[in-house]
Amino acid sequence: MEFSSKLLEKAVNEMAQLPGIGKRTALRLVLHLLKQPSEQTHYLSQALTTMRDDVKFCKNCHNISDVEVCEICSNTSRNHKIICVVEDIRDVMAIENTNQFKGIYHVLGGKISPIDGVGPSQLNISTLVSKVKMGVIDEIIFALSSTMEGDTTNFYVYKQLKEFNVKTSTIARGIAVGDELEYADEVTLGRSIVQRVPFEISLKNN
Ligand SMILES: [Zn+2]
Repeated sequence: MEFSSKLLEKAVNEMAQLPGIGKRTALRLVLHLLKQPSEQTHYLSQALTTMRDDVKFCKNCHNISDVEVCEICSNTSRNHKIICVVEDIRDVMAIENTNQFKGIYHVLGGKISPIDGVGPSQLNISTLVSKVKMGVIDEIIFALSSTMEGDTTNFYVYKQLKEFNVKTSTIARGIAVGDELEYADEVTLGRSIVQRVPFEISLKNN
């Protein structure tokens, strides 16, 4: 791609670093910004910079938050003895939208994936194990997507928790294999949480 402006080229190259954005799309977005009043670009860059600098991760569940303990964890009307284990904030948002879950979450921050170089130590697993070890948790619900990486992660975490006195369950697989949680419709996802099954049973079905 030949550019008549180095400034334009730099902006396009930065934009094209984002996932799913090729150079052509990046160019289209940048040209769009050039057609808008300059404040629009300032608002955008300001929002991104502030978000990147100021965002926090809840020290209890690792969910993205503006404060040290997220709204879900600090809500005393929720059941803090039931923890739903998810990959990232998109899953928290999807499950919250169903209005079917009144426990709290634990955000792993990814899935075990040797191909992508993600091992258990890079995920928020030890903090979950510590919580369970303290004996204050009744149930752990696994709600990772049913991909190979999701299953591997579920099983790894399950093995870490097995020796403790905690019930483990997994969301009912009304969701087709390979589907990501965030794309499941609310009714299906809500039902799969309500109709969750003991984790051991899900192992026998595989
Ligand atoms: Zn939290």
